[in-house]
Amino acid sequence: MRYLSTRGGMPPRRFCEILLEGLAPDGGLVVPETYPHLTLEELARWRDLSYPALALEVLRRYVDDLPEAQLRDIVARTYTREVFGSADITPVRTLAPGLHILQLSNGPTLAFKDLAMQFLGNLFEHVLSRSGQRLNILGATSGDTGSAAEYAMRGKHGIRVFMLSPYGRMSPFQTAQMYALQDENIFNIGIRGVFDECQDLVKAVSSDAQFKARHRIGAVNSINWARVIAQVVYYFKAYFAVAHRVGDPVSFAVPSGNFGNIFAGHIARRMGLPIHRLILATNENDVLDEFFRSGRYRVRKGEEVHQTSSPSMDISKASNFERFIYDLSGGDAAQVLRLWQQVERGGGFDLRGTDLMPRLADCGFVSGSSSHADRMDTIRRVYRDYGVMIDTHTADGLKVGLEHRDADVALICLETALPAKFADAVREALGRDPEVPASLRDIEQLPQRVEVMDADVQAVKAFIAAGCED
Ligand SMILES: *Cc1c(COP(=O)(O)O)cnc(C)c1O
Repeated sequence: MRYLSTRGGMPPRRFCEILLEGLAPDGGLVVPETYPHLTLEELARWRDLSYPALALEVLRRYVDDLPEAQLRDIVARTYTREVFGSADITPVRTLAPGLHILQLSNGPTLAFKDLAMQFLGNLFEHVLSRSGQRLNILGATSGDTGSAAEYAMRGKHGIRVFMLSPYGRMSPFQTAQMYALQDENIFNIGIRGVFDECQDLVKAVSSDAQFKARHRIGAVNSINWARVIAQVVYYFKAYFAVAHRVGDPVSFAVPSGNFGNIFAGHIARRMGLPIHRLILATNENDVLDEFFRSGRYRVRKGEEVHQTSSPSMDISKASNFERFIYDLSGGDAAQVLRLWQQVERGGGFDLRGTDLMPRLADCGFVSGSSSHADRMDTIRRVYRDYGVMIDTHTADGLKVGLEHRDADVALICLETALPAKFADAVREALGRDPEVPASLRDIEQLPQRVEVMDADVQAVKAFIAAGCED
């Protein structure tokens, strides 16, 4: 398998060469030259595979420059009952005939990002140890991604994590999830400021190419290709759990932000999985819903971004979206380049009247959005009708999923976080507290480890430089 850039400016590379990189050198995203395709007969042979065995089958088609035995070992160490709470790893819960929830949130930080991030931690450690390299991961978080990255990288040889967070502005639970980690390779940097300032600091540090190279600074954001393909696996797993016969159509509803999760569903379909519809759900930050309804992509300005009760979907643009447009264009990098030049100049583009519009109508995506009142209502209804508590993000997905449900097609709604992570909103909806898993019950009482500083680039750089020394 060889990898290219969506903007056409990168010579073909192998998987291990792109693994640790963020953007392609030309500013585009890395994509595979082709998607492997499986027939229904081949798919039927995957039906009864365990999660790690299925993960190996999917991943080895994209990761073909590591010996298969090594990949098998990494996958086997990642997808265990100890880490994910059950041998199924991603169990399906049936609410009613033909209506299912895919439970993706039983990993260490109670959100679906663990499924990809835990794999990434083990993969990075393995690849770095082979080449004798080190990596210092720098990131900014408003809560979710930071804790998933820290839990994935804690204790890993050759890896350090420097995570900036807005000091005093996260929920007590989220704060404790990160700051209570005592591992020596995890550095929490609490910034006196808001999340945007944290993100600006990361950009400022990363744009100093010399500093970045000297200290081997990398990232684990949602455009990382290994994260995307790790997410493809559970679409197959859920399909086999629900479909009566391999070949039956099944639809998926996906609470979406940066378009990573649902894009993995698109890849699964490109590989031959009989997905009827991919139903994209947004909250009030509806840049993607607007696109799939109209063909117009309009990036939001900072002040247009709403702070909502499903905060992990509060985005102004969708970082993985360029991969989808590349695929829609049939791999036309020149067209992608032109469109993203329009994004940089004018904040968006419009596909109406172009040759891409008919393809968009045909691509099997539908979308909708959800409000705070919708979330509250959905959480209440699901609790009343099925006795199941869901979080606000999952509620966005379920609300939009039900609007687009077809008779006779099973619908799987992806659960992206447990209610315990967003306890305030769940309390508002139900008047009671969500259950917290035993392992995290006393987490807010644990001692915390954080370096607090002003939003000052030089101070952050000095701290990283000191932390990188052996
Ligand atoms: C990250 C996240 C999302 C959005 O996923 P994308 O891959 O960015 O579309 C949805 N829900 C939760 C709880 C998340 O943490």
